Amino acid sequence: MSETVREGGCACGEVRYRFTGEPIMVHNCHCRLCQQQTGSTSVVNVFTESENLELLSGELASHTVPGGSGNPHTIFRCKTCGTALWSHYPRFGSLMTGFRAGTLDDSSSVTPDVAIFTDFKMPWVTLPEGIPAFGEYYDPPATLPPASMDRLKALAARRKAGEG
Ligand SMILES: [Zn+2]
Ligand SMILES: [Zn+2]
Repeated sequence: MSETVREGGCACGEVRYRFTGEPIMVHNCHCRLCQQQTGSTSVVNVFTESENLELLSGELASHTVPGGSGNPHTIFRCKTCGTALWSHYPRFGSLMTGFRAGTLDDSSSVTPDVAIFTDFKMPWVTLPEGIPAFGEYYDPPATLPPASMDRLKALAARRKAGEG
């Protein structure tokens, strides 16, 4: 069985990346911080073990900004054009990467598992049917497939063991 491969990159074309396999989960986040950091209605973040995401070319600059949990998260951008590509979050450090679905060459190839922080959505935004929506955060074990939870548990165990 061959694994799915998706590629993406920044606006100027210097940064190119390859994502192998399927996401652990995909969040469509409507929180105020995501609105501010993207300048848009929400962000679509595709989460994966960092080893499944390979930087093929280009250089990244990192910026640390407030995260929804109150702890900082680090955004990685193309050093040349500033396109934000992905983030690391406090809980899993560098072990897990959340990359921005809009940077995929084929952004239609992923669909959110959940819409979150919808209490904060811009009032004219209509949420899609068929994607579970939560006013704030959600309960991953009650929502995500068991295979995704196994992958999160594996990451948590590595983090606890001192990685990332
Ligand atoms: Zn660029
Ligand atoms: Zn958010």
